Amino acid sequence: MAEPFVGGEYLALSGLERIPVVDPATGEEVDTVPVCGEPEVDAAVRNAREALSGWQQLPASKRGEILGEAARAVLAARDELAPLLTGEQGKPLREARIEIRRFVHTLEHYAGLAKNIRGGYVPDLDEGAYGLILRRPVGVVGAIVPWNFPTTLLANKLGPALVAGNAVVAKPAETTPLTTLRIAGIMHEAGLPAGVFNVVTGDGPTTGQALAGHPLVRKVAFTGSTPVGRKLAALAAGDLKRVTLELGGSDPMIVCDDANLDRAASAASVGRFFNCGQACLAVKRLYVFESVAEEFVEKLVGKVRRLRVGPGTAEGTIIGPLHTPEGRELLEGQVRDAVESGARVLAGGRRPEGEVFEKGNFYEPTLLLEPAHDSRVATEEVFGPALPIWKVADLEEAIERANGSIYGLGSSIWTADLDRATEAAERIEAGYTWINSPQIIYDELPFGGWKQSGYGKEHGMEALEYYTETKSVVVRRASRG
Ligand code: NAD
Repeated sequence: MAEPFVGGEYLALSGLERIPVVDPATGEEVDTVPVCGEPEVDAAVRNAREALSGWQQLPASKRGEILGEAARAVLAARDELAPLLTGEQGKPLREARIEIRRFVHTLEHYAGLAKNIRGGYVPDLDEGAYGLILRRPVGVVGAIVPWNFPTTLLANKLGPALVAGNAVVAKPAETTPLTTLRIAGIMHEAGLPAGVFNVVTGDGPTTGQALAGHPLVRKVAFTGSTPVGRKLAALAAGDLKRVTLELGGSDPMIVCDDANLDRAASAASVGRFFNCGQACLAVKRLYVFESVAEEFVEKLVGKVRRLRVGPGTAEGTIIGPLHTPEGRELLEGQVRDAVESGARVLAGGRRPEGEVFEKGNFYEPTLLLEPAHDSRVATEEVFGPALPIWKVADLEEAIERANGSIYGLGSSIWTADLDRATEAAERIEAGYTWINSPQIIYDELPFGGWKQSGYGKEHGMEALEYYTETKSVVVRRASRG
C-alpha cells in the first residue's frame, strides 16, 4: 500500500478512506492510497514550513547541487519508475521512459540556474542613498498536478520552487500518485532534506482543496482542467495567495499550400496521438489549405492507420489506453457529435476489437474531416486520440478559425513563406507558436496559456519569478543621514 511522503518518511495512516489506483489497460487495481484530509495536509504543510529556514540558509549553488544529485538518482531508477508510471497511467513504456528523462532534465535545468537568481541595484536614489532589489522565496508552495504527465508537470513546479529556496507540498492526481511517491523517497535518499518536498495523496475536493486553502501555503501552482482552475483562482483570492494556472488547450495547426506535407503530416500524427492524445499541448484542430488538402490528408491517413494500439507494456505499442473509462466515454460523445454534425470518419472512430482490448479503455486513433465549426470537437478540448480537420481558403481564414477558441495554449504553422510564418506567430492568440516544427517543449522557453488556458509561466528564467517575491531595500549611509 502506498502512503503519503511527509517530512522525509512514508506515513502509515490508519482510518482514512483509500482510493484504488487502477491499471488503465486491464482495469485491475495495482495499489491504493489514502485520502488525506485537513489534518494530514496541515501536517505536511507544517513540515514544509519547518524545513524552510534550513533550506533557505544554504547558498543557492548548494541547493542546485543537491537538486542535481537528486535528479540523477531519479534517472538511475528509471527502469523501476517507467513501469510504475505505465501501470498507473497507461502510456507505452517507451513514452514513460521519455517522461522520466524529461522530469530529470527539467530539474537539472533549474539546478543549473541556481546561481542566476538575481535581484538589482539602483544607485544614487538621492544623496547618500541607493536601492537594492532583493529576490526572496515565496515560502510553502502547494503543487497540484493532473494524471496525464504526472512527473514532468511536477518537475515544472519542483525545479524552480526548490532552487529558489521554497519548500513544496505536492498533490498528484488521485489516479496517478505512485510514481510521484516513489520519486519523493528517491530524492530524499539522494540528499534532499526532510520536509523540503512532501507528497499528500487524495482527491481534488478533499485533499486538493485543503492544500490550496491552507493559510500557510503562500503559492498554489496548478496544472489541470479549466473548470478546476477557475475554482482554485477563486479559493486563492480569499487570502490573496499567489497562483499560477496551466489549464486546458485546443491547439490549432495550420498547413499552408507551400508546406513540406510529409513533415507536417508526421508532426500532426505525433502531435495529436502522443500519450493517446491526452496532452495539454497537442495538435487538436487542424486547418489545411484547400489546394493541398487531399494530398495532405492522404499522407496523414496513411500514417495514422499504422499506429499500433495496445497495452503500454506490449512491444511496439504506440497508442495505449485512455486513462479512465469516463475519459473514453467523453471522447466517444465528442466523436458522435462530430459525425452527427456532418464529419466524415477517415480513420478509427471506434473501440478496437480483440481479447486484449476487452478490459482496458482503448480507442482507435481517429481522423474526422469537416465537422461543423460549432461542433464539440471544435469548441471543447478533445482529450483523447481524435483529430478534426478542416479545409481553409487562405491564411486569413486559418488564423480567424485558430483564434475562434476560448483556449490559447499552443499553435503551429507549416509554410515555406517567412511572411506567413511571422504573421501567424504575431497574430495567433497562444503562449507558443511552432513554425515548421513539431510541438516540442523546451525548458529554456517560458510556457503558459493565454485566454482560458490559464495565467503565469512555467519553464525558462521566467518561471523563477513566480516562485520569488521582490523586496526593495533603501540603504542610506549613516554619515550622510
Ligand atoms: P483536473 O482539473 O480534474 O485535476 C487536476 C488536479 O487537480 C488533480 O490532482 C485533481 O485531484 C485536482 N483537483 C480537482 N478538483 C480540485 C479542487 N476542487 N481543488 C483542488 N484540487 C482539485 O484535471 P485532469 O482531468 O486531471 O487533467 C486534464 C486537464 O489538465 C486537461 O484540461 C489538460 O489540458 C490540462 N493540462 C494542462 C496542462 C498545461 O500545462 N496547461 C498540462 C497538462 C494538462
